Amino acid sequence: MNKKSDEKAKQFLDEERIFKLSETDRYEYYICKGASKKVYEIIEDKLFNRFSCNCKNIRLTDCSHIKAAKLLQGDMYENETANDHKGTMLGVAI
Ligand SMILES: [Zn+2]
Repeated sequence: MNKKSDEKAKQFLDEERIFKLSETDRYEYYICKGASKKVYEIIEDKLFNRFSCNCKNIRLTDCSHIKAAKLLQGDMYENETANDHKGTMLGVAI
């Protein structure tokens, strides 16, 4: 477990820098605005339950962007019942 990327992922979520772009039957697309204003694309292949990201992460562990996408999925799931989150996701300029 890489603790530093866990914290980064949480920060992406807190600062609403990770958001879901679109979804198909098989794939979910996420966008994450990184620290240096770079934008990363995270794709989940739901068929194989596998995430990929276009950052330079070549390790086998999840990068902070993938972790943020996973956190966001959990967050969205929670918000189906408790809707106290400031929903500015749609206000993000693409
Ligand atoms: Zn990444």
